[in-house]
Amino acid sequence: MNLKRLELLGFKSFAKKTVLDFESDVTAIVGPNGSGKSNVAEAFRWALGEQSLKSLRGKRGEDLIFNGSAGHPKLNHASVEVVFNNKERVFAIDFDEVAVSRHIYRDGTNEYFINGTKVRLKDVIELLSAVSLGVSSHHIISQGEADRILNANMFERREMIEDALGLKVFQYKKEESEKKLEKTRENIKEVESLRREIAPHLRFLRKQIEQVKKAEEMRAELISIYKEYFKREEEYLNNFRVVLAKEKGDPDAKLKAVDSEIVRLSAVLGSANTADPAKVTRLRELDANIYELRSKKNNLEREIGKLDALIEIKSVSEEKGPENRNIRINEKGERICIYCAQVVPRVVDEVREDEIKQAREKEVSEIRAKRDEVEKMIHSLHESESRVLAEQDLIRAEIESKKDEFRDSERALYELRAERSNLLSILNSVRAKEEKFNMEEGAFKMEQTEAVVLAGREAANFRDFVIPAETAGEPRVVQEERRRKIERIKIRLEDMGNSGEDVLKEYNEAEERDRFLEKEIGDLTRSAEDLEALMAELSEKVNTEFKKGVERINKQFNEFFMLMFGGGSAELTLVVPQKKKSVEETALGVAMPNEEAEEEGVDINVSLPRKKIKGLQMLSGGERALTSIALLFAVSQVNPPPFLILDETDAALDESNSKKYGDMLENLSKISQLIVVTHNRETMSRAGILYGVTMGADGVSRLLSIKFDEAVKIAK
Ligand code: ATP
Repeated sequence: MNLKRLELLGFKSFAKKTVLDFESDVTAIVGPNGSGKSNVAEAFRWALGEQSLKSLRGKRGEDLIFNGSAGHPKLNHASVEVVFNNKERVFAIDFDEVAVSRHIYRDGTNEYFINGTKVRLKDVIELLSAVSLGVSSHHIISQGEADRILNANMFERREMIEDALGLKVFQYKKEESEKKLEKTRENIKEVESLRREIAPHLRFLRKQIEQVKKAEEMRAELISIYKEYFKREEEYLNNFRVVLAKEKGDPDAKLKAVDSEIVRLSAVLGSANTADPAKVTRLRELDANIYELRSKKNNLEREIGKLDALIEIKSVSEEKGPENRNIRINEKGERICIYCAQVVPRVVDEVREDEIKQAREKEVSEIRAKRDEVEKMIHSLHESESRVLAEQDLIRAEIESKKDEFRDSERALYELRAERSNLLSILNSVRAKEEKFNMEEGAFKMEQTEAVVLAGREAANFRDFVIPAETAGEPRVVQEERRRKIERIKIRLEDMGNSGEDVLKEYNEAEERDRFLEKEIGDLTRSAEDLEALMAELSEKVNTEFKKGVERINKQFNEFFMLMFGGGSAELTLVVPQKKKSVEETALGVAMPNEEAEEEGVDINVSLPRKKIKGLQMLSGGERALTSIALLFAVSQVNPPPFLILDETDAALDESNSKKYGDMLENLSKISQLIVVTHNRETMSRAGILYGVTMGADGVSRLLSIKFDEAVKIAK
């Protein structure tokens, strides 16, 4: 890589676009005082990220913009572009050229560009520090700053040397890590404070959760009791239902049968209440018949009596004088037949008895015949009567049997009614049981709904519950006790409130947040530890590299010093400052060594030949310039910067030292491109390109390529 070009536009005295090409190893810028040479050196410094206005000889940003003159108006914008050759890809950019430019406006706004792309200052610094062009600008030695490194304190010196050794990039990384670490520690503190903030709430929620867990346990117990309770209750109700159906079914069917029997019997009784009128009429007819038959029979019997009396009379008078035997004398002395009560005529004369006997026999026989006839009639009447009586008996029997049937029905009806009322009372009691059943069944269903609300769906999921065989027939009171237990748990659960889910949700959220914060602290702590490790590693690397670098610089420094002073010695020494061994308490409680206290500073020890001078402060201006040049060149030799700008570094040198200086320049130009602002003839003679800077009456700097002789003239 090498420096290719510098373009200025509106920067300080360069009002017009001015381009400097650096095609030689040594480029000299010459010109009269105040023409703008140093402005060129400052243009580099500024374009490459310088933030100190003081080092740019300005107070405000706008001091860097061309301020106008009698012949030229003031400008509102200044820009400087530095162009590098990047064919070897020294910069991590895939272009052959890298152009770093900076712009400034009167309002103080700064803009940075890398190859035309707007970037941040940080990007520019990162890009340049990778090629040892850090912001300490050790490669740009401004006018009067040749002994800057001598004037600096030991830490500033260390910084310059670190920068020159290309270690700044590690320091940046370290600083960045430190910033990150600081931020991380702040974050840890913040997260810890957040964690502390939620801790009391979390504790409170934890207690609540214990309650919730208790409620959960109770709910689980409730579910288990519920399952058994429901299972048993279902069984109980099923049995109850069966018993009820049975209890109700029998009397119900019976009642129906009884009712229909009552209807039937009532109908029967209704119809059987009066005797059959035909039969009654017939009975009456038969009574009349009997009466008639008996009258006839009586008459005929009387007739028989008469006939029998006649026969007797006839028979007695014939044999023994029937009149004496069959006649009695009444109180009147009259003769009365005992049979016919007539009276009895006076016995006729016995003379005619025989005739009479015959007549009587005949008569008796006739009477007898008649009697037989009457007897037959009586017999016939008797038979008729018997028939009538039989019919009568039959009808009566029929009527009686009808009556019996009525009475039986009446009795049966009575019994049925009694049974009916009995059945009704049974049914009433069944109905009462039915009501009880309905109530219990309703309560069972309601309880299930309540159980689901209170303890979740699982509570009603009781069908799989198996009743232990040994308690299968437990008395109902046990179930009632179970029910009371359920009620007790329900009341306690209700007392605990129903906010369990909310609390759990809140607790889970809070705990998750706490865990997240804990993890965050863990992560942050780990990243803090990583950063600390990285910082330690970087410190270690910087320290090691620095020590190695200082060793190598010392070798060159001593050589250049001896060359310049014709003897003596010079070296850089690392000085451990008087530090307080302080430790900082970090948020992690880890004792961190105070980094700054650990850092070593750089001291410069010189010993001039033939002089007993050891301290820097005792050197003359020229000696200081020589010492710093020797050191600068030594550093540049060890870690050559891409280019080195030396603004009148040679101002204090006498002729012989100017020569030595010129020799060293030539040597150095083999490893670093050199841009020298000089009035020194010797120095000019070593340059491949000479630029003359002039300033006319318009106050605008102008640049021209010139020859050595011209340069000498201009410089004078
Ligand atoms: P010397 O040889 O004396 O060191 P020099 O050539 O290095 O001089 P510079 O210091 O570069 O000169 O230039 C100084 C000149 O630049 C001054 O004349 C100053 O007025 C001019 N200048 C500085 N800032 C501005 C500005 N913002 N606008 C116009 N001119 C400016």
